[in-house]
Amino acid sequence: MTDCLFCKMANNEIPVDLVLETEHLMAFRDINPQAPQHVLIIPRVHVRSLEDLEPGQEDLAGTLLLAAQQVARQEGFADRGYRTVINSGHDGGQEVQHLHVHVLAGRRMQWPPG
Ligand code: AMP
Ligand code: ZN
Repeated sequence: MTDCLFCKMANNEIPVDLVLETEHLMAFRDINPQAPQHVLIIPRVHVRSLEDLEPGQEDLAGTLLLAAQQVARQEGFADRGYRTVINSGHDGGQEVQHLHVHVLAGRRMQWPPG
């Protein structure tokens, strides 16, 4: 997807504040953090949203979740805890149309979310 912001980041066309990268994914700091620590994890392949993830992509889904765990450990907030969020579609509040997992930490999270 040539016009997708996160694809451009995954292809190193736009610089990111990198936290973690592998063959299949990239994790970088959110430009507008909603918590003291706010990391986004994206697959390198373009998947529009969780709603577009397909049977056969179970490994990718699991890899993204394990990357959230790895980011939490690497960044030092695994013990205190953190929140993972995937916004999907209009009502879910998704603004960037490339699947991403938010990892938020560094403060006590509220529930229910806004
Ligand atoms: P969502 O609303 O779930 O689609 O989240 C999109 C996230 O991408 C927001 O938290 C934005 O702050 C973040 N974002 C948008 N542009 C950039 C960028 N250039 N670098 C890092 N994060 C970004
Ligand atoms: Zn994309």
